[in-house]
Amino acid sequence: MGECVFCRIIAGELPATIVYQDDKVMAFRDIHPVAPTHVLIVSREHIPDLRAPEAADRDLMAAVAKAIRLIAEKEGLLAEGFRVVSNTGVKAGQSVFHLHFHLLGGRELGALG
Ligand code: AMP
Repeated sequence: MGECVFCRIIAGELPATIVYQDDKVMAFRDIHPVAPTHVLIVSREHIPDLRAPEAADRDLMAAVAKAIRLIAEKEGLLAEGFRVVSNTGVKAGQSVFHLHFHLLGGRELGALG
């Protein structure tokens, strides 16, 4: 866990542009954005991905949903829409093994896949 880049951001050991936080989640801008809005919503607790039982926590998922709504509103995305993705496992393209949700918007995102 000491090596986890998102744990280090949450601990304040690495810089990040934080756009939202509460007691369950922290949200900051992706260092390699692929859309005008590319924010990562990250659990404060170190949970590897959505397959972990801890990821199904009701309060955590409520916090994620609230963060999505508030950030999308702040970024001006409510009218045009946005995409939320959580890559789960290597085959899905996950590269940081700490539960997170990409919030993407501000351009035509096209089809998934
Ligand atoms: P994933 O590949 O789905 O696991 O997403 C991990 C994301 O974390 C990638 O989009 C990276 O660009 C992003 N990322 C990695 N390190 C940092 C960092 N220090 N600050 C912000 N975003 C990061």
